[in-house]
Amino acid sequence: MKVKGIGLLSGGLDSILAVKLIMLQGIDVLGVTFQNPFFGAQKARIAAKKIELPLLTVDITEEHLKMLKAPKYGYGKNMNPCIDCHTLMLNNAGRIMDYSGADFIFTGEVLGQRSMSQTKQSLHVVAKNSGYQEYILRPLSAQLLPETKPEIEGKVDRQKLLAIFGKGRKQQIEMARRYGIIDYPAPAGGCLLTDPMFSKRLRDLFTYNKDFRIRDIELLKYGRQFRINEFSKVIVGRNSFENEALQKLSEGEDVVIHMTQYPGPTALVPYGGDDTTLLYAASLCALYSDAPKDEEVVALCRTGNTSKPIMIKAAQREDSESLMI
Ligand code: SF4
Repeated sequence: MKVKGIGLLSGGLDSILAVKLIMLQGIDVLGVTFQNPFFGAQKARIAAKKIELPLLTVDITEEHLKMLKAPKYGYGKNMNPCIDCHTLMLNNAGRIMDYSGADFIFTGEVLGQRSMSQTKQSLHVVAKNSGYQEYILRPLSAQLLPETKPEIEGKVDRQKLLAIFGKGRKQQIEMARRYGIIDYPAPAGGCLLTDPMFSKRLRDLFTYNKDFRIRDIELLKYGRQFRINEFSKVIVGRNSFENEALQKLSEGEDVVIHMTQYPGPTALVPYGGDDTTLLYAASLCALYSDAPKDEEVVALCRTGNTSKPIMIKAAQREDSESLMI
C-alpha cells in the first residue's frame, strides 16, 4: 500500500518545500488549507496549482472564533492566538487523516523560526494538544525533533528529512532554486490577526458587542472606525471600494448616511443609534466629504426603505481622531 501524507499548505515557501520533500520520497500527498474571516485560502490554491498538489480547503470559522475569544495559550503581539490556532489546524488535519486513511500529517514549520509558535516547546505543546502528536512530522526540521511514528515505522525516511533551524531563509531559498520554485510569496503576512489596527478593532468588538456575528467581523476590514459610545460605532468609507463594501454589508437596523449636495463617503452605523449618535455620524460623513466645513449641509440617513434628511456641520477633526479605533 502506498504511504499517504496530509500536508498543511499555507502557500508560503516553507509549506511548499515540505510538500516537495515528502513527495520526493514517493509518498502520496493531499494538501489541506484552512480559511476563515481572518485568513483565506487563495495563496495555498495558487501554490497547490503550481506544484500539482490536490488541495482540500476547510472552513474553520466557527471553531476558530470560539477559540479566539479565549485562547488557552493567549495572544501574540496582536490578537493572534498562534499556538491555539496551530493546534486547531492540526486537530482538523488529524481528523482528515483518520477518515482518509492517510498515515501521517506534516507541516512546513521550522524550529526556531518564530518566537511564539515555533520553539521546541511550542511545537511539542501544539502537537500534544492536537491529539495527533505521534503522527505530526515537520520535514524541514525533523532531524532536530523527536522521531515520529511514520519515521519509526519506516514510512518516511528520516535521513532524507532536514535539520533547518532559525529565522534565516538561505537554505530554503537554495532549495527553492533547486526545485525550480519561483515566484513564491514573502514569508509572514496574510493573517489579519497579526495586524495591529485590525486587532484593535477586534478587541473593541469583543468588548462592546459580545453577540457579534460574522458580518460584524467583515465590517472591521473597512473604513475609518469611530467608537461613539458603548452601544454605537461609526464606519466611514475611505474610497469608492470601501463605500460599496459598506453598502453591501449593511442590513436590518443599520443606518447608512450620505451627503446630498456634495461628493462624499458612505458612513455606516451598525445596528443604528440614538439621535445624538446619528447627528455625530452625519457630521463625520460631512468631515470626510467635499462639503464646506464651516456651514450647515444636508445628510441623508437611511434605514431599510426609510430615509431622513438632517442638517449638520462637519465634525472637528481633532475630536473625531480621539474616537478612532
Ligand atoms: S498567524 Fe494567524 S493563521 Fe497563523 S497561526 Fe497565528 S493566528 Fe493562526
